[in-house]
Amino acid sequence: MTIQSFHPPKRTLMGPGPSDVYPRVTEALSRPTVGHLDPEFVRMMDEVKHLLQYAFRTENTLTLPVSAPGSAGMETCFANLVEPEDKVVVCINGVFGMRMKENVERCGGEVIIVQGEWGRAVDSAAVEETLKSHPDAAILAFVHAETSTGARSDAEKLCALAREHNCLTIVDAVTSLGGSQLEVDAWGIDAIYSGTQKCLSCVPGLSPVSFSQKAVDKIQNRKTRVQSWFLDLNLVMGYWGKGAKRAYHHTAPVNTLYALHESLVILQEEGIENSWARHQLHHNALVAGLEAIGMEMVVPIEERLAQLNLVTVPENIDEAAVRAQLLADYNLEIGAGLGDFAGKVWRIGLMGCAATKTNVLFCLGALQAVLGKAGATEAALTVYNS
Ligand SMILES: *Cc1c(COP(=O)(O)O)cnc(C)c1O
Repeated sequence: MTIQSFHPPKRTLMGPGPSDVYPRVTEALSRPTVGHLDPEFVRMMDEVKHLLQYAFRTENTLTLPVSAPGSAGMETCFANLVEPEDKVVVCINGVFGMRMKENVERCGGEVIIVQGEWGRAVDSAAVEETLKSHPDAAILAFVHAETSTGARSDAEKLCALAREHNCLTIVDAVTSLGGSQLEVDAWGIDAIYSGTQKCLSCVPGLSPVSFSQKAVDKIQNRKTRVQSWFLDLNLVMGYWGKGAKRAYHHTAPVNTLYALHESLVILQEEGIENSWARHQLHHNALVAGLEAIGMEMVVPIEERLAQLNLVTVPENIDEAAVRAQLLADYNLEIGAGLGDFAGKVWRIGLMGCAATKTNVLFCLGALQAVLGKAGATEAALTVYNS
């Protein structure tokens, strides 16, 4: 058998990620590869850092993209900040909170769980009570935007509680960065990780992270070495943190970093507040359309994410068959439910450059045709025209 070049189908990606990628980003990927210590490349790395500081709204010096997807950013935060026997309060209201718990355990930390409800924000009163009854807890960890449930938690309030109780915070912002208001410095977040393939509309494979001075102090004063050589920030800082004098740590994914640079330039051109507002507008139109054909949103309105919409699958509908038909007839991808929500919901993403009027109307039109309904696009247009 002769294997030939791979040409993927052209889909519209409206699931939980990866999201559609900006054409300017794919063009940037194809630029010539240079050495990862080339002075021009090093200059670009500094720009990536400044652009990430812009996106995270932080002055943190230790701000960089980890050379692997969002899960590696998660692991970077836990591996560096959790020392054996540290008590870590983990809020679980979906799949990614469960992964945080596993990360703490693998780092030898002691997990204290604040169990939340799927499809709801983290309950800050329950967090406060837990922090009060565990005064020796060192870290509070939670997911800002739970992609498995579509719920947004109040990161500002949770970080304030952590500070009152002398805890550092680890925040998952994989789905929130670029799509929802996120203020690393103003909210006092100590360690945060994100991903490139959600609201930044870049290709998958990098994880932007940022650490406060308090977090850096803890990392530099660890009693034990970070178990992972690759993710040990004390070593990574030698490549990303030392101005022009960079030491080889690993070969940076050169072209993927061009792609991230381009997507962040696009974010800055749009203006981050405008990006948040754009996600909200298209979310409002999508929800109006879905509700017009009798679909129900899972998350209460004040806790909903704009960029990831959970809708209940109507009774007597084969949810997988609908997704398969959308893919076959419309080249449109929407997401299935995960964990407790498997088989019960669809997850419709409006992430990054996928958050457009064209996409909202296309998705609603396709969905109403497949379900044999009418009126969704008209309802969405009412929102756009108001
Ligand atoms: C997607 C996602 C991750 C994992 O990112 P990968 O790039 O898939 O490794 C982690 N947390 C949340 C909330 C996510 O949505």
